[in-house]
Amino acid sequence: METIVQKLEYIAKQGTCSKKKVGCLVVGPAGDEIVTAANGRPGASRCADGHCYRCEASQEFVHGRDHDLCSCLHAEQAAITQAARKGIRLEGATLYSTYQPCLTCLKLIVGAGLVGVRFIEPWIIPTVVEVPNLANDYHSLIELMPAGMSPINRD
Ligand SMILES: [Zn+2]
Ligand SMILES: [Zn+2]
Repeated sequence: METIVQKLEYIAKQGTCSKKKVGCLVVGPAGDEIVTAANGRPGASRCADGHCYRCEASQEFVHGRDHDLCSCLHAEQAAITQAARKGIRLEGATLYSTYQPCLTCLKLIVGAGLVGVRFIEPWIIPTVVEVPNLANDYHSLIELMPAGMSPINRD
């Protein structure tokens, strides 16, 4: 039987971003898979074909910053926008991802009413001198989800 990790890694392969490929799966309160998505720009012009400057020049940017300058959707954002398109309610759902959500994705996940997140690879919370309490802000959002956020055990 396919494990959740194998399934997520397969979904991540569909990513069209030139950077890290990330995939996620949203499971409804009844345990049904309701949305799957990978990262990349919305529409036909692909990041991998050089259509996102932030991704193409990612070495010029600091990890976790200037996401507002990137035209790619993170996998979680792609899942939430796909659900919005299809009229799928995410309240009470759980998100599984190959990569721990960044702050932007986390606030969307919490705002959309998801109750928990499970991830494979951890995201490093960036050190931002102007926002010394960033990690606290991140963790206080996690606390708003009844099932919290935790890594997926690989075995
Ligand atoms: Zn990209
Ligand atoms: Zn993100």
